Parts: sequence; C-alpha cells; structure tokens
Amino acid sequence: VTRVLIVEDERDLAMGLRANLEVDGYEVTCAHTGEEGLNHALASAPDIVILDLMLPGIDGYEVLKRMRAGGVESPVLILSARGEEFDKVRGFRTGADDYVTKPFGVMELLVRIEALLRRRGSATAAKPPAPPIKLDDVSIDLDGRIARRGSEEIPLAPKAFELLTALYERRDKVVSRHDLLRDVWGYDAGVTTRTVDAHVAELRRKLERDPANPRFILTVWKVGYRLRVTAPEN
Ligand code: CA
Repeated sequence: VTRVLIVEDERDLAMGLRANLEVDGYEVTCAHTGEEGLNHALASAPDIVILDLMLPGIDGYEVLKRMRAGGVESPVLILSARGEEFDKVRGFRTGADDYVTKPFGVMELLVRIEALLRRRGSATAAKPPAPPIKLDDVSIDLDGRIARRGSEEIPLAPKAFELLTALYERRDKVVSRHDLLRDVWGYDAGVTTRTVDAHVAELRRKLERDPANPRFILTVWKVGYRLRVTAPEN
C-alpha cells in the first residue's frame, strides 16, 4: 500500500482529494495544520506528501524544511493557490519535488503523484498500466498518451487524453458532465459544461468513424457521456 499524507487546511479540498486517492487504492492520512502534518511526516515517513503552503501555524515551507531536516525524504508535491514563480522557486529550493497551483484537475494531480512515485521507484501500489483501448481500428495507449488509427498517429491534446482517461476509468458507465469537469478541469471558474461538450465533440471527430453517429463515445441524454469499450454489434 502506498501511504499518502495530505497537509491541507481547507477541509473540503482535503476530503475530496482523500476520496479520489482512496478510490485509486492509496492509504490516506489528512492533517489540517502545519504542526500536525509535520508530526505525521516525521513519525511515519509517508510514501508521498501533498503539502499546502498557506497553513495555520507553521506554513508549508517550514513544514518541508523541518521534514527534510528530520531526515524524511518522501517526495513532496506542493499544492497552493499561489502561482507566483517566486513561490515555486522557493518551494523547489526548500526541497519540493513538484508543484500544482489551485485550481487544478484531480486527474492532473493523480498523474503527477504517480509520476513522482515512479521516479522514486516506490510505485508498488500504483495502478497497473492500462491496456490499450480499442475503438474499431483506433488504438489508444492512455499511459503513453498515444492514439493511432492503424499505424498512423492521431494528434490529441493533453486534455483530450485526460478526458479519455476519466471516461475510461468509468467505462461502460454514465459519467456526468459535472464529474468530467471536476476530474479533468478542476474547479476552474472559467470552465463550463459546454467546454466538456466541445471536447467530447473533438474526441469524436478524431476517433469515431462517423462522428455524427458515435459508436463508442456516447451521449446519455440530459446526464453526460459513456465510453463504450465492449465492441457494439455492427
Ligand atoms: Ca491553505
């Protein structure tokens, strides 16, 4: 089991992250202040730490500094509303391994966590590589982020792969536009369900033989979308 420590004083955000991580098989501990987070980190040396910068009491930088001073070498992903380059530089200098600015997509965060764990060679509990998805003559490797029709590569944007991943993780089930928004785009105020629709239309144009009559990326009326991976008859 991969143990994740979340140090985040926004409880809703911490709870949301915890739920998503637990679905993926991680064991999650949440701390809501800097002191609490530091104590957990020193006591249990988690496999990865997700660390907010603005915390009550000692802030994220200080937690990180004392963690490193205490010999905890766990990878640290900083999570912060601050997007200033200065903060990133300071975070990395203090010993952070990655940095995500709020608002962020849960999918992006999960991918970054997996990448950090892989780099540390401790991804024992990470998900096994997904087999390629076959949609007629189109083959999609989600991990490698490559889509091909026959031997020809189909150019897809990173967001398109994140959307496909979100649909694939709940394949053959209905996924609401709201869930897709949350997982792929995060709670970004400028993004609406129409964004989801536009990206789905783009996926269909590139992946479906007849985008007007999709066989795989299906609309579920009034709810959302469903990725059908079991080949339909005809
Ligand atoms: Ca905070």
